[in-house]
Amino acid sequence: MKVDVLVIGGGLAGLSTAYHLRRERSGLSVLVAEKAEKPGGRAGTERKGDFLFDHTGHLLHLHDPYGKSLVTGLLRGNLALHERSSWIHSDGVDTRYPFQANTFGLPLPAVADCLAGFARNLYRPRPLGAAPSFADWSRAAFGDGISRRFMFPYNEKLWRTPLGRLTTEWQGRFLPRPKPEEVLYGALVDQKRFFGYNAHFRYPVRGGCQALPDALAARVPELRLRAKLTHVDLAEKVAVLEGVGEVRWERLVNTMALKDFVDISGPHPAAVRAARARLRWVDVHNLNIGVGRPAVSDKHWVYFPEARYPFYRAGFMSNFARDLAPRGSSSLYIEVSRRPGARVDHAELERQCVDGLRRAGLLRRSDRVTESMWIVIPAGYVVYDRDRTPAVGAIQRHLRSRGVWSIGRWGAWKYSFMEETLLDGRRAALEILGRRSAETRSDEPLRALK
Ligand SMILES: Cc1cc2nc3c(=O)[nH]c(=O)nc-3n(C[C@H](O)[C@H](O)[C@H](O)COP(=O)(O)OP(=O)(O)OC[C@H]3O[C@@H](n4cnc5c(N)ncnc54)[C@H](O)[C@@H]3O)c2cc1C
Repeated sequence: MKVDVLVIGGGLAGLSTAYHLRRERSGLSVLVAEKAEKPGGRAGTERKGDFLFDHTGHLLHLHDPYGKSLVTGLLRGNLALHERSSWIHSDGVDTRYPFQANTFGLPLPAVADCLAGFARNLYRPRPLGAAPSFADWSRAAFGDGISRRFMFPYNEKLWRTPLGRLTTEWQGRFLPRPKPEEVLYGALVDQKRFFGYNAHFRYPVRGGCQALPDALAARVPELRLRAKLTHVDLAEKVAVLEGVGEVRWERLVNTMALKDFVDISGPHPAAVRAARARLRWVDVHNLNIGVGRPAVSDKHWVYFPEARYPFYRAGFMSNFARDLAPRGSSSLYIEVSRRPGARVDHAELERQCVDGLRRAGLLRRSDRVTESMWIVIPAGYVVYDRDRTPAVGAIQRHLRSRGVWSIGRWGAWKYSFMEETLLDGRRAALEILGRRSAETRSDEPLRALK
C-alpha cells in the first residue's frame, strides 16, 4: 500500500490533520491509522454501567476564532456553555480559584501569611534571571506565603519533580497573575471575579467529550481503526501497521507520544537517541466513580494542594451534562499523578481517594460508590525541566528532515489543550500543502463542514 500522507493516531490531532487536508481539497491520498477500536484518544469517553466517564475532566476552552467556529460547527446543537465553578480546598475550607486572588475565607493567619509575602515582593522585588526555575518564579510572582501554601504543594503533587528543576515555559497561559489590588481585595471579600484562561467552558450536552472526535471522525473516511503502528523505517519511508501490513508514505504525521514514536522508528543519529533519553513525564491515574446521590456538589472541580489528600484535583462530571450519570446519581473524576514505573495498587488507592473525598466533605459517610473505573493516562503531563525543550527540538528537527511532522499534545511533547490540538492538525495539513495558515479561508470553517 502507498499513501501520500500517513497519519498515526485518530485522536483530535490526527483527525484534524486529515479533515483539513480534505477540506483544502489537497487531492492527496491519506490514511489515518488508529490502534484503538474507536476514535478520540484522550478526548474519548468510556461507558461503565449507566455512567459515561471522560479521561478526567475534558472541557472545551475556545479562544481562537477559527477553533471556536470549527468546534461549534462540529457540535452544532450539542454544546452547552458553562460558567466555571472551580475551587481550592485547603486548611479545611474551600476558596475560589485562583488561590492567589482569593485567600478570603482561609484562617486569618494563613491570609496574613499570603498577603505579607505578596506585599514584601512589592516593595522589594526579587531579581529573576532570564530563565528562572518555577520555584524562583513563583516566589517572585506571588511571594513566600502563596507559594508555600498553594503553588509549591499543588505543583509538587502534580509534577512529582523538584520545582527548582521545572522551567516556567508551561505556565504562561495556565496560571493567572492578578494585579496587587486584586490580591488585596480578594483577601478582604469573596470576590466573584473570573481570572485565567478558562473562566467559561463548553461541553457537549450528549455523549460526553467523545461527541467531538466522533463528529470529526464522521468527516474523515480515511480513518482506519485497530491499525497499530509497530515500526517505521524513516530512510525507506515504510511503516508497518497491524492489520494493514506495510505502508509506503511520502509524509508522515505522528500524534502518538514522541518518546514512543522514537522508540519504534529509525534509524536515528546518536544525538536523537540521547535527546529521547532526556524526556521526562508523569503518568495520570484517573479514578472515576458513580455515587448513589444526586447533586453531591454544585461545583465543577476542586484543587487539593495538601499532602493529606492523595489526589491533586477532583471534579464533578455529572455537573457538565445530565446524561453522564443516571437519574438520582452523581459522578466524579479524581486525578492522581505518579512517576513512570511506580507500582500503583488501584484498589488501595481507590480506598484512599474515597476516604479523602469524605474527609474533605465532598462525599458524605453515607454515600455509596455504585460504579468505579480507573483510566491510566501514560505521560499525562510531560515534565518541563531544562532538558525538555532542547531535546524536543533536536528530535523534531531530525524527524522533519525525514518528512515527519510530530504534533498534538504528546506528539509535540507539550502541555496543551483540545482547541490547540485541533489547530496543530490544521497547521500540519497546511504546511504539508506548502500553505501558511493566514492564506486559508480561516473564517469559513462551517462551510467546509457541510
Ligand atoms: C489529565 C488531562 C486533562 C485534560 N483536560 C483537558 C481539558 O479539560 N480541556 C482540554 O481542552 N484539553 C484537556 N486535555 C488535553 C487533551 O487531552 C489533548 O489536548 C488532546 O486530547 C490531545 O489529542 P492528541 O490527538 O494530540 O493525542 P491523543 O488523544 O493521545 O491521540 C493520539 C492517538 O494515537 C493513538 N496511538 C497511540 N499509539 C499508536 C500506535 N502505535 N498506532 C496507532 N495509533 C496509536 C492513540 O490511541 C490515540 O488515539 C487534558 C489532558 C490530560 C492528560
